[in-house]
Amino acid sequence: MKYLKSFNEALGSLSTIKGKLIIKDIQVGSKSDGKHAYLIDKDNKEYRLSRRGHLGIDDEYFYPYENKNVEVTGDEAKNWIIVDNIKPISSVLSDVRREVDNSVSNLRSGLDKELYKYCYNCGEKLEKRAAFCNECGKKQD
Ligand SMILES: [Zn+2]
Repeated sequence: MKYLKSFNEALGSLSTIKGKLIIKDIQVGSKSDGKHAYLIDKDNKEYRLSRRGHLGIDDEYFYPYENKNVEVTGDEAKNWIIVDNIKPISSVLSDVRREVDNSVSNLRSGLDKELYKYCYNCGEKLEKRAAFCNECGKKQD
């Protein structure tokens, strides 16, 4: 345990990483070493998970999160995360999706300004290249 403590202390900075938690059965030679939790982030980077003061093998703490999207907070170094907290999240991709939706709607309203103008006389919505207003017949500039 003394070794584990100093190992933990040598680890890096506090991070919050979103990804999918998977449980792998680690094989050592022909026998099973046990189940171990990993986090795969959106760039497919793989982190091995353990709790502070635990070896991380057959740790039931991680089992309820298997194959779920989670946000892990802890000390991260060299593809290891010493986990302080885990919480389930709806999707790793949800933030990305929201950004895409925003840029599409910005594009649409930009396009709208490109294609249309409003009659200076009656306010009718006209095609940008229209020479006369459909509604009041006034010549547009
Ligand atoms: Zn008009």
